Amino acid sequence: MAWTQLQKNQIFEAFWLTGRPRCPVDQAQLNVQKAHPNGGYTLTAFCPRCSSTLKMGNTEDPKRASFRAWTLAERKQLLADYLKTRSGTCPVCRAKVKMLCTASAEANRITMLCERCGAASVEHVLKEAPCAPSPILAAEPALVGARQWL
Ligand SMILES: [Zn+2]
Ligand SMILES: [Zn+2]
Repeated sequence: MAWTQLQKNQIFEAFWLTGRPRCPVDQAQLNVQKAHPNGGYTLTAFCPRCSSTLKMGNTEDPKRASFRAWTLAERKQLLADYLKTRSGTCPVCRAKVKMLCTASAEANRITMLCERCGAASVEHVLKEAPCAPSPILAAEPALVGARQWL
């Protein structure tokens, strides 16, 4: 049994919100993989129970029309979230934002990138503490998907 486009869109959304989408037909945990050909990404999902499959890339994102750059206020909020929790959620598409800290002599440089919508920014903060490792980037070191705004 194949998923409808609506169900595929739900799975796609759930992947970016939780990272662990379930099959809308039988609630089984899906096997999901994300590949990065040519700067974008391709998501593939497979249900081990009903054998439905999905393949969607960044160009098929149902929310694509609403993507935009972060506002100044949103960037400040993300930086505040980074300093507090080392993580943040994209205000545009709700995906987890990748955050990378690199240190120079007097400042820490925080690179923030949303892999789903491509919003990105680079902030500098006065050096008060060494960079802390980001749990997201530790699992996936390459800052991929940066497009028009980085
Ligand atoms: Zn299924
Ligand atoms: Zn985003």
